[in-house]
Order: sequence, then C-alpha cells, then structure tokens
Amino acid sequence: MKISHHGAIRGVTGSCHELHINPNNSVLVDCGLFQGAETSPDGANSNELQINFPIKQVQALLVTHCHIDHVGRIPYLLAAGFNGSIICSKPTAMLLPKVLEDAIKIGFTRDKRLINKFIKKIGELIIGVEYGKWQNIKLLNSPTDHLKVKFQPAGHILGSAYIQCRIETDKPHKSKTDVLFSGDLGAPYTPLLKSPKSPYSTDILVIESTYGDRMHEDRRNRQQRLAKIIEHAVSDNGVVLIPAFSIGRTQEILYELEHIIHKNSLSKSKSAMWENIEIIVDSPLANDFTELYRKLKRYWDKEAIRRHASNRHPLSFEQLTTIDDHKTHLGTIKYLQKHPRPAIVLAASGMCAGGRIMNYLEAFIEDKRTDVLFVGYQAQGTPGHIIQKYGAKHGYVELNGKKRAINAGVHTISGYSAHADQKDLVNFVKRMRKKPKEIRIVHGDEKAKKVLKRKFEELVPGVFVDIP
Ligand SMILES: [Zn+2]
Ligand SMILES: [Zn+2]
Repeated sequence: MKISHHGAIRGVTGSCHELHINPNNSVLVDCGLFQGAETSPDGANSNELQINFPIKQVQALLVTHCHIDHVGRIPYLLAAGFNGSIICSKPTAMLLPKVLEDAIKIGFTRDKRLINKFIKKIGELIIGVEYGKWQNIKLLNSPTDHLKVKFQPAGHILGSAYIQCRIETDKPHKSKTDVLFSGDLGAPYTPLLKSPKSPYSTDILVIESTYGDRMHEDRRNRQQRLAKIIEHAVSDNGVVLIPAFSIGRTQEILYELEHIIHKNSLSKSKSAMWENIEIIVDSPLANDFTELYRKLKRYWDKEAIRRHASNRHPLSFEQLTTIDDHKTHLGTIKYLQKHPRPAIVLAASGMCAGGRIMNYLEAFIEDKRTDVLFVGYQAQGTPGHIIQKYGAKHGYVELNGKKRAINAGVHTISGYSAHADQKDLVNFVKRMRKKPKEIRIVHGDEKAKKVLKRKFEELVPGVFVDIP
C-alpha cells in the first residue's frame, strides 16, 4: 500500500490523491483544478491541465465533493483515457454533471456535440452511493487484495463526504488497513448542513489543513456582522459584491439573508430598508445549484427543515433576482452603474479567479460606494487574495488584464467558512476512539500545515505526522 499526491500539497487547490493497493491497482481521490499560483509537484498548474501521471492502474475515481478544485480536471482524466467508475455520494452525483459541464465550457470546448457526448459519458461513469454503506471496488488481477470504501457526511457543502478506504489482504497473512481521506471538512453550524462526525478509527488519515493555524471568529455573531456590514454598505446606495462559490457558499449566504430579512420584517425601523435591497445571484450555475439544493431537502439539517415547515422558503424569496444569460449579466452591470441603488450581488468565482464577479469588480472596485465582502478562503496569488490583502491600504489589483485602484471597502467574515478551523480539525482526530498511527497533512499553506502537525503530535503520542 502506498499513497501518492498529485495536487493540494503546495496549497489548497488541485486536490488529487492516489491510493495504491498494489502495482496493478489504485484509486484516485478527487481530481481538481489548480487555481491562482498553485501548482502540483509534477508541474501542473492552472494553465497546464493535462493529466501528467500514469492512470492505467487507476480502477476508480472517488469524489469527496464537487468543488472545482476537487473535480475540475475530470474532463482531462477522461481525455487521458480513464474509463472507470466515478463514485460519490448521491447528492454529489446529482450536482457533478452540472459542475463538469460548466468546467468544460470554460476550459475545454464550446462545441455542443462534444459537450453532450462528454456529459453522456460522465453520466455513465458516475455512481451515487448512500452515506454510511460499504462499497466494494473491483480490482484487476488481484486475488489476494480487496478494497471497499465508505462515504460519510463531511458537512462542507451538500453531498460532501470524507471517504474511508479499507484494504484487506489475504496473504502472507490476513491483514486490514484503513485509510481515511478527509476531503474538505466542514465546520459545525454550517447553514443547511449537518455537522460531520468522526469515525470510530482509522490507521492512516489524509487530512486537509486549510485553517490549520487559525480559529474562526465566533460563528454565533456572524449573522449580526453580516447584517451590519450590509446595512452600512448600502446606506450610500452602493453595491455589495460577494464573490462566492456557486455551490455551497451562495446557498448558505442566501439562507442567511432570508433569515435576516425575515427577522427585520418584524422591526419597524429596519424592515423598509431591508425590503429595498435587491439581491442578485448572477450565475447560471449557482442558480441551477440553488434549485438542486431545494430539491435535496432530505439532506438538510433540522433547523432548515423547521424553517421550511413553517412556510418559509430558505432559498428563495421575493427580493431575489437570478441572472442566467450573459447579455442580462452585462446589462445589469450597466444598469447598476447608471442607477446606483442598494444591491447585493453574489457571483463566482469565490476567489475572484475568473467568472462573472470579475466584470463586477472591474466596474465597481474604483467606486468608493462599493463594498467587497469576502465570506470564503482566498488562495495565494488569486485576485481575491490581493484585494483582501491590499484593500485597506488602497492598493491595486489586476482585473481582466487592467490595473485597478481598490477604492471599495473590503470586508471579511470568516465565520462563514465552510472549512473546519484548527479546533475542529483537532477534534476530528480527538473524537476517534482509536487514533491513527499515521497522519498526512495536505490542502493548506505551509504555515497552517506545520502548526497543525504540532497539534496532532501533542494529541496523539507516537503518531507519525507527514507533510508530503
Ligand atoms: Zn471544497
Ligand atoms: Zn478544497
């Protein structure tokens, strides 16, 4: 048994790990895109997307969740000849074809026929499985080694999972090794989602470390902070730009906004102001996903189900405008420039590395009335990271190839992170009854990984912690 990493070891993007059972057999866990300045050990980056490792031994691809930095290279995997099953949770199986369709339109081809052919192929390969049930993976020429896998809710986005892999060997003597891939772990109190629960045990743990060196600010007051920032931001008739992943973050923020509007509708002083704010989701993909999120109610947490039962619509409300086509997108920007009004715009990408948010930023970032609100992690080298870092210092950022002064207000609320913070990551291990013998830390900045390594060494005496 051996584990190799084809991504997410020099940063947080490009997730792709390979679990080798024997020389003829392996499975991949995720196959994601690199973003910003991040690269793979074998030189892949956000421009160099071809699969640059051998895949003939790969029997299946296991997908933790459908964020683009975990699945975006699947089209290239297929182009390289991969023809095995793509195994994921049931909700992910529903979300994934849409994500990939979008990914190939952007990076691969605009040819409708090719796209349809690809989507059909993807549909044939995807197998959606229930959480908590072991699935056998067929291995080739392998009478003595066996592999089964189990998906468990990770609380990160709808459908997200951590994956337990069990390798059983008959020879020379019967033995069993459990390897757990955390994927992206969620934090407790993520809107709409149940919190992740630790497994009983694992021998080897491959864990993300995005927030390995940080604690989230209090998640209980994040909603007040969000409301306050928006109230202040719209008081000068400026727009509030929220760069957000189409899947997960957009729906969480909508869920929160619905709640804020609902609460304020009972307040005499504020109800009119909130009712006057236009909320725009400018992303066909995000709108598709909001629709799917609505359909997948059985995976919601108790609170969301309760709100729905009391006749509220946590993911759709009156002030919400959704924009799909590109012409309306451009028209909306022009309209908002000409007729300033209180508006919140949610658009992808979450790290301002492409997508429609770029056009909004280009149009509004030099306007003092604008506010940019970050609710998610910004990877090194992305425009989002630059705006976040230099915004307060009135710095510059390059958008669509042009240098722009950051005159807009810049805010960050980390309490919405869909990622576990340091305490949650440590708790994930702490709550295992039998602790791992080996932990491999991936998916984080150098500092985050080092700090987390020390934490794990303190927690589990004698554990071998590796930063690949
Ligand atoms: Zn993710
Ligand atoms: Zn990730």
